[in-house]
Amino acid sequence: MIRAARRVDDLFESVIRSITVHALSLGAINLGQGSPDFDPPEELVEAAKRALTEGYHQYVPTWGLPELRRAIADKTERFYGFRPDPDSEITVTCGVTEGVIASLIGVVDQGERVVILEPAHENYHAGAIFAGAEPIWLPLRPPDYRIDPEELERAFRKPEVRAFIFNTPHNPSGRVFSREELDAIAELCIRYGVVAISDEIYEHMVYDDHEHIPIATLPGMSDRTITISGLSKSYSVTGWRVGYAIASAPLTEGLRKIHDFTTICSPSPLQRAAVAAIELGDDYYDWLKRYYAERREKMMTILAGAGFDAPTPEGAYYTVAEFTAISEAFGLTDDDDAFAHWLIDEVGIGSVPASSFYRSDPSLGRGRVRFAFPKRDETLCEVERRFEKLRDAMR
Ligand code: PLP
Repeated sequence: MIRAARRVDDLFESVIRSITVHALSLGAINLGQGSPDFDPPEELVEAAKRALTEGYHQYVPTWGLPELRRAIADKTERFYGFRPDPDSEITVTCGVTEGVIASLIGVVDQGERVVILEPAHENYHAGAIFAGAEPIWLPLRPPDYRIDPEELERAFRKPEVRAFIFNTPHNPSGRVFSREELDAIAELCIRYGVVAISDEIYEHMVYDDHEHIPIATLPGMSDRTITISGLSKSYSVTGWRVGYAIASAPLTEGLRKIHDFTTICSPSPLQRAAVAAIELGDDYYDWLKRYYAERREKMMTILAGAGFDAPTPEGAYYTVAEFTAISEAFGLTDDDDAFAHWLIDEVGIGSVPASSFYRSDPSLGRGRVRFAFPKRDETLCEVERRFEKLRDAMR
């Protein structure tokens, strides 16, 4: 009988993508998928047009356009005080997604273990499976999603742990991990000889007095960390597929081999245009923070008004909202998947069931759905209007 590899038996269609298809088919506003409904900065669009007329149509060097790698090195130094070597420590990938997969396959051996902090982005599990590694799940629990140092150490103590993968600022919880939490991770990585794979795609979306600290900047971590970020979120270009991985030369060598043989290079004209994004000045990042802080305020007000209990995110652009008051009022259960479908069908709003972010114990997500708020004022106003239906019915 013809069949696919058993290796991929355990991987299913992304819940976020299937919810998106359902939401779009019914004309719902999709707060499920984390992509902006507004355009990127005009300079980027102009730079992309220019790149097409300047002849960037063929492959560029596999590790990334040299001027883009130089710009990434400069920006890393400007924001975080260390300058990776553009030739041996920076690789441009097709988004963070490819950076994560290439890192896991290029660095972890078959049969080794990868500790995955969850709730987690879906492709960490896929990457571990592609690497032939065994995932060890480390669940963070709602509503505060704090790292428990004892549980963390128990995960690292398991034999054959080779890598620890996590994300800060964190999707979906909105946590920005504190220096104390990162110190605990760093100490264990050093003690147990583990590589940290740090997905920092939301690095520029941090609110109030929270600070994004790249774990690579902690003592003893620069050689054993792969820092992955990209353009998708910081510059509102999720479809461009430009990301990058920063790592010491031996780790870079590993992940580059996977990158080379899977994608060759991220789209050439968009790499050229990415230089303009990476070189944007401080004004842009100040604006970005202000703009997202405003969206966050609006979203929190809307959700509270509709009867959700949602923690205010410290960073990124999501909140995981508890819906008990609403499900009780409408005679529903705490089944988050059923609730997300009900919300699309009855209210016209897409969200993501929180259980889809947990593999170890999906019940940790019951009673909660994730909303994304990278949306224009008009969209958020319409979300508020649609949620009035819930408020009216609950009065
Ligand atoms: N990592 C996290 C934590 C994300 O939330 C996302 C997108 O939502 C990605 C990676 C995907 O990034 P990219 O578009 O750069 O592949």
